Amino acid sequence: MKGIEPILENNRKWADTQRAADPEFFTRLADGQKPRYLFIGCSDSRVPASAITGTGPGDMFVHRNIANLVVNTDLNLLSVLQYAVEVLGVQDILVVGHYGCGGVAAAAADKQYGLIDSWLTNIRDVIRIHEAEFTSISDEQARLRRLVELNVIEQVRNLSKTSIIQNAWKTGNPPRLHGLVYDIKEGLLKDLQVEGSQLAELKNVYTTNKVAHS
Ligand SMILES: [Zn+2]
Repeated sequence: MKGIEPILENNRKWADTQRAADPEFFTRLADGQKPRYLFIGCSDSRVPASAITGTGPGDMFVHRNIANLVVNTDLNLLSVLQYAVEVLGVQDILVVGHYGCGGVAAAAADKQYGLIDSWLTNIRDVIRIHEAEFTSISDEQARLRRLVELNVIEQVRNLSKTSIIQNAWKTGNPPRLHGLVYDIKEGLLKDLQVEGSQLAELKNVYTTNKVAHS
């Protein structure tokens, strides 16, 4: 089999298996979605959102980009976030980085890669914010692993800076924000426990209130 033929063949088998196990599976999903989770992860092919989280169709709204960044001018990410929070009402938002991230490694190198350099500047900002800690780690692999973690922490912070999350916090049932790192070598997710004090320290500078325009 060539090209996309294996994919179509696998798809037919998968659909048959699902239908055999649960005849209403597809008709139920066709009625609409109410996912509990929003997953913001890296585009890396080794970090498939559903597979590593044991979630299935209907469970998770997904946005992926290079190095799982939350950029406050990214209309794509912001649209996904707004829809997930305000329309779908997701309960948990997961920013998921991964060790061995090529985007993070590229940002830490002093080389240009073309258009992507503008995107990677967001990770260089993470290095600048945490420069003392970053430069104090002498082992390169350990330094990059820590940068992956720091990048996730800063992206969760970036979520908390958006008016979408700030407005959600004023409701009775805001989504919880989580920062996780996936270890490709082990297949395991680690919770960085970002929520709480690390977000509270941003409050004075970034908290904004909705203005009623007359
Ligand atoms: Zn990556």
